[in-house]
Amino acid sequence: MILIDGKATAVAIKEEIAQEVRRIIAGGGKRPHLAAILVGHDGGSETYVANKVKACEECGFESTLIRYEDDVTEKELLDKVQELNEDDTVDGFIVQLPLPKHINEQKIVEAIDYRKDVDGFTPINVGRLAIGLPCFVSATPKGILELLRRYNIPTSGKHCVIIGRSNIVGKPMAQLMLQKIYADSTVTICHSHTENLKDICHSADILIAAIGRPAFVTADMVKPGATVIDVGTTRVPDASRKSGFRLQGDVDFDSVAPLCSHITPVPGGVGPMTISMLMQNTLLAARKNW
Ligand code: NAP
Repeated sequence: MILIDGKATAVAIKEEIAQEVRRIIAGGGKRPHLAAILVGHDGGSETYVANKVKACEECGFESTLIRYEDDVTEKELLDKVQELNEDDTVDGFIVQLPLPKHINEQKIVEAIDYRKDVDGFTPINVGRLAIGLPCFVSATPKGILELLRRYNIPTSGKHCVIIGRSNIVGKPMAQLMLQKIYADSTVTICHSHTENLKDICHSADILIAAIGRPAFVTADMVKPGATVIDVGTTRVPDASRKSGFRLQGDVDFDSVAPLCSHITPVPGGVGPMTISMLMQNTLLAARKNW
């Protein structure tokens, strides 16, 4: 069994990006610039955005953090999105989700110019992904594909089973695995109403779990020799930790790992890849190769 080290891979990718930025600057080019809009003071969002700003520094990007209090109006946010769309000094930007209840998230996302939508959440990027056009791909599924590639895991013609059909993980993951230009696999998507879930999972060469149910995937669901990718990150109480919790994946790691050819741990697997893929998308945005 090979443990897929997402942490080390993410560090290597950020170093590759930093090298590319040094080349751009040496050639007289401009530093890629990522902006982030953060509303309110939610602990999780604060941490994610702080990590994104730190990753920008590591990659040699310029970053701008735009903060609003919880009582920001939808109009103020839409105006800021429009301003960033038109600001030539900003290559890409994100609006950290979730937003407060009084704001229509979808309306904000749809206002983002798809050429600056480095999260890959706008309908235009989702549609472009579906028909195989150049686009920004949602960072978590993009990171998983990158791990499969860097670990030389065969995907073409293989059966990939994805559990979970969210817009940010399951569905874009299915598109990446399906398309010839990406993974070229045969894809099955499962969800909470799927019948014979165990049998379907057991037929997978590559099993990707993105459901948010701790230790849901057990050894009897995994074919010997399969690759298992665990996207789940659920906080479970753990009195032995200073924080009082630990992150638990969707896979029952101890029973499943011995069966696998490759497996991602939680933490240290898919999670660290997500921000490095956001950095890759920002570099792509800066190249403006549309
Ligand atoms: P989500 O929007 O909550 O969707 C969960 C999906 O799992 C839904 O499609 C749901 O089916 C399906 N599901 C739930 N219970 C199931 C069951 N018993 N059997 C089969 N399918 C079931 O989730 P998400 O946003 O994709 O996130 C999934 C997990 O990944 C979470 O733990 C999240 O924290 C984690 N995550 C990690 C990263 C990272 O960077 N590591 C990034 C994003 C998400 P229905 O559609 O039928 O409801």
